[in-house]
Amino acid sequence: PTFEQYFLMNTDDVIHYVQFKIDSFKHAQTITCTEIGDGNLNYVYRVINNQTNDSVIVKQAGTTARISDEFVLSTSRNKIETEALMLQHKLAPGLVPEIYLLDETMSCCVMEDLSKLTIMRTALTNFETFPHFAEHITDFLVNTLLRTSDVVLNHKDKKELVRTFINPELCEISEDLVFTEPFHNNFNRNEITPGNEQFVQTLLYSNEELHVEVAKLKFHFMNNTQSLVHGDLHTGSIFIDQNDTKVIDPEFAFFGPMGYDIGNIMANLMFAWARGRAYEQKEFTEWVENTLFDIMDLFETKFRTAWDEHATEVVAKNADFKEHYIQSILKDTAGMAGLELARRVVGLAKVKDITTIEPIESRLKAERLCLRVATELILNPFQTGGQYITALQNAQ
Ligand code: ADP
Ligand code: MG
Ligand code: MG
Ligand code: MG
Repeated sequence: PTFEQYFLMNTDDVIHYVQFKIDSFKHAQTITCTEIGDGNLNYVYRVINNQTNDSVIVKQAGTTARISDEFVLSTSRNKIETEALMLQHKLAPGLVPEIYLLDETMSCCVMEDLSKLTIMRTALTNFETFPHFAEHITDFLVNTLLRTSDVVLNHKDKKELVRTFINPELCEISEDLVFTEPFHNNFNRNEITPGNEQFVQTLLYSNEELHVEVAKLKFHFMNNTQSLVHGDLHTGSIFIDQNDTKVIDPEFAFFGPMGYDIGNIMANLMFAWARGRAYEQKEFTEWVENTLFDIMDLFETKFRTAWDEHATEVVAKNADFKEHYIQSILKDTAGMAGLELARRVVGLAKVKDITTIEPIESRLKAERLCLRVATELILNPFQTGGQYITALQNAQ
């Protein structure tokens, strides 16, 4: 094949592809290619030049999601993902993989191989801790979010970027799976762990007070083009070790509320906490608590500094406006964290941190804990890291 027309590649095709497209593979005699994708949507290949030990990752979008043919998706999501990574690489250097090639025809990209790092969710399920995570992820958040907002960007340039990152299909997945189905089960595809049906019925499905707040958050997600958000910033989208943190997989990227990304990080750390609690891993849960605290604290501090350094918008020099803006991010963060906590427990895309808890009574208990904290966050948005910790500790 000459790769002039889209088709879904297999491992042999990918070998030909890198020989054809990537300089360091042109003269390679033996190339090994393995499909390593474990996500819900795409195909990921690790390709190694056995003579030089050079390796790259090829990620290709298929026409339907891997997880289910029900999701028919435009393969152009790979372009959005790759362009988001390139922009994030500029804004937050060292915190995303390097991109070697974007191929719009094949709907694939070639990027830096991060295999020496571990997917954070996997590490967290083994109760590993990462002392630099709060520092790194707040650098990523502040730089990618503030610096794609109207506070910093020229407003016409920003509108051009908004256009580039219009992402209707992937946004629709979030609108359904995050903002609607967990509370209404309108497509009948929620999966409630047997034993928690009544709890979910009362706390989520019949809770009118909650539904109002969820509706507000959904419309906020759809209508506030605040910043270029990653859009799927859970611990399965983060590679990590004791020194480095790299964010991957921004195919859901679009212009939306900053709190969506920050809330996703907070919620996914709370899943790790709930697992640690279930297995009585005290050192681990304490590290998670400190990290939750530090993320909120460092985000705010760094955001203030970066605002003073980078703001170009005249009205943003007003101190009260700056305060109002920061408070509204913190409020969004709490609501979005609550939504993520709920949807990963009752929706069809679950998290290993919770699903692998045994025995089943412990899993049911951990799920109820997450759902209680979820509703608290949505109904009464927290402002400080300390409030997240207190809510976890009190939600037995
Ligand atoms: P999806 O969009 O299908 O969720 P991901 O981008 O999350 O795909 O990738 C799926 C898996 O492929 C990751 O969990 C990781 O194991 C592997 N992977 C993805 N990108 C890289 C990379 N740059 N280096 C090494 N492995 C990667
Ligand atoms: Mg993924
Ligand atoms: Mg690995
Ligand atoms: Mg993905």
